[in-house]
Order: sequence, then C-alpha cells, then structure tokens
Amino acid sequence: MPGVTACVDTPVDEVRVTAYTVPTGSPEADGTIAWDSTTLVLVEASAGGVTGTGWTYAAKAAATLVEELLAPVVTGSDALDISGTSQAMIRALRNAGRAGMGSYAVGAVDVALWDLKARLLELPLHRLLGAARASVPVYGSGGFTTYDDEQLAGQLGGWVEQGIPRVKIKIGESWGTNTQRDLHRMRQARLVVGEDVELFVDANGGYRAKQAIRVMQEADELDVRWFEEPVSSDDLEGLREVRQAVSADVTAGEYGNDLYYFRRMCQAGAVDCLQVDLSRCGGITEWLRAAAVAASFGLEVSAHCGPHLHVHAAAATPNLRHVEWFHDHVRIESMFFDGTLDPSGGSISPDSSSPGTGLTLRRQDVERYRVR
Ligand SMILES: [Mg+2]
Repeated sequence: MPGVTACVDTPVDEVRVTAYTVPTGSPEADGTIAWDSTTLVLVEASAGGVTGTGWTYAAKAAATLVEELLAPVVTGSDALDISGTSQAMIRALRNAGRAGMGSYAVGAVDVALWDLKARLLELPLHRLLGAARASVPVYGSGGFTTYDDEQLAGQLGGWVEQGIPRVKIKIGESWGTNTQRDLHRMRQARLVVGEDVELFVDANGGYRAKQAIRVMQEADELDVRWFEEPVSSDDLEGLREVRQAVSADVTAGEYGNDLYYFRRMCQAGAVDCLQVDLSRCGGITEWLRAAAVAASFGLEVSAHCGPHLHVHAAAATPNLRHVEWFHDHVRIESMFFDGTLDPSGGSISPDSSSPGTGLTLRRQDVERYRVR
C-alpha cells in the first residue's frame, strides 16, 4: 500500500477550527423554522505534514467545543487509530453533553480525521472505508415554504432537467396551520416534475398524527413516496401511527446523535427508512455503526443533508437508499471546495482519483464569510 510505512505511529500534531456564516440566496423556511444564513464549522487536522478537512453545519458554539474539549484529546493521538480517538472524544464530552451540539462537534473532527487518514495512506476515502458501490443515488431537496410557485417550479424543474428522478419539498407550513397551501404546493410540484419523478415531502415535525394522515389522504392522487417527519421525530408512537396509515414511506432520524437513538427509532417501528446525518451523530465512525443498527432491523439508511460530507461513507454502506442533494448545502459546498460532484443522472460518484475526500478548501474565496 503506497505510503503506509511512512505513517506508522503518526501523531495528530494540530487541530484547527474555524467557522463561516453564509447568507442564503433568498429567504428560506420549512414547516417549523425560518432562516437567512447557514453556519459551517470547519475542522482541519494535521499529521506528518498532511491535512484532513471535516465540517458540520452547526452554531458557531460548536467550534468552541472542538477547541476546548476535543482538540486536546485528538492532538497527539495516532492519525490511523480513529476508533480509539472517537471514543476518547465522546468520553471528553461526558459532562458538557454528547447530545446535541457535542455530537456535531465530534462529527466535524471525525470527518477531518478520516480525510487525514485517507490522505496519509494515499487512498480515496471510500476505498479506505471499503466501497460497496461506485456511485450513490441522490434526491433533489429544497422546495422551501417561502418559495412562490415560480421559484418552486424553477428549482424542481432544474433537478428534473439534470436527470434526478426524486425531489423533495417542505410542507407543514407554519406548524401545520396552512395545509391548503401545503396541498397546493404538492400538486404544483407533481405538475412540474411529471409522473415519472418520485415526489417526497418533509413536514419537519409540523403536523400532529391524525392531521398528517388526513393531508396524505387528500394528496392521494399525487403518489407521494416519502413522508419525512410528519410529526416530531421524538414522537415515535406518532410516527408509527402515520406509518401504518399512509402508503408513503415514513422517515426520520436527522437529529440522531448516538446509536441508542437510532435503535429506539427502529425498534419502535417508527420508520420505513432511517435517516442519519453523520455531521450530527459523531461522523463517519458512527454513521457506519448507525447503518449497521438499521440493517439489523432490515432497514435502509438515507443520508441527511451535506452530500459531500456523506458521499464516501454512503458508497461504503451496503444498505444505503440515497443521499440528500440539499439546496443550501450544495450551494455552500460548491462555494467552499474545489472537487464537488455532479448529480446529473440522479447519482454522484466519489472521486476515485484523489486521496481523501477529493475536496480542496477554497480558503481565500470563503474568508469573507469567516466568523471565527
Ligand atoms: Mg428533514
């Protein structure tokens, strides 16, 4: 293996963290929140003169967790022994709290460590992980409730033109208080994409269970295939109730931080497909284990957001369904990195010709967004 003898006992000598806030192109909202910017917390870990890069989408405070609690245990660890370092990071968060932002911070560092290890070994990251597939299916995701009909048609139509056969829009507007507009937008989406494209919807927990079922009954002729967070993802009984009543697959899991969370969701019969966000659950290390939890229940996993964060791990996951080609993160990742991927035809293929993630940070270009 090229380079392997050079990195035996290769200590991580530095962990650097920065954060960037990027304004959205236009006002954005889903069923339960509105936003006008996205913050990316970026971690660079170095060893043996090589640097790996990881990131998460989180409040700037996640950078403080990295700096104060994680960097001290990662610095000096062996860059090849990520499993041990992952456990050390989780232990270091015990009193600060692994749940929530702690796991986001671990995720950013973990991805940086995997990129670093792959670059040290001069392997594409998905080859280091062990690829199960050469490319991963994607679905176009956006369709914000703030969009008017024209904006919605432009975005969905663009994905269809690229050959992406699955698209997702947000519903559950204003905490489920505008179901008539939800239904109007779902009908409009179906009209725009035609009969051959799968239509997905995401209520971000904005409905109650019976309400979610009624909306799906009213939308019966639209053949919705994916109903994400019809109710709060903490309401496992509610998810199961909706799941049993609708033909669309019911999905959730994007807020999962650890394996117990994913096991509880699977065990409750709450989902038809488990969503996992590696930037929120401790990185690639925990993604692989979460996918194994899902597999043990006969379920597939779908990657939530951050497509360039997920593509290598997704390629290494036998029970993968797809990766979310999320408008905001696609836009940000193409601003931040050279080497981003093309979803034409409905899938992305991790770079097989470059070590690590295959991405290069455009440091000068993004400096103007830096907030720490
Ligand atoms: Mg969602």
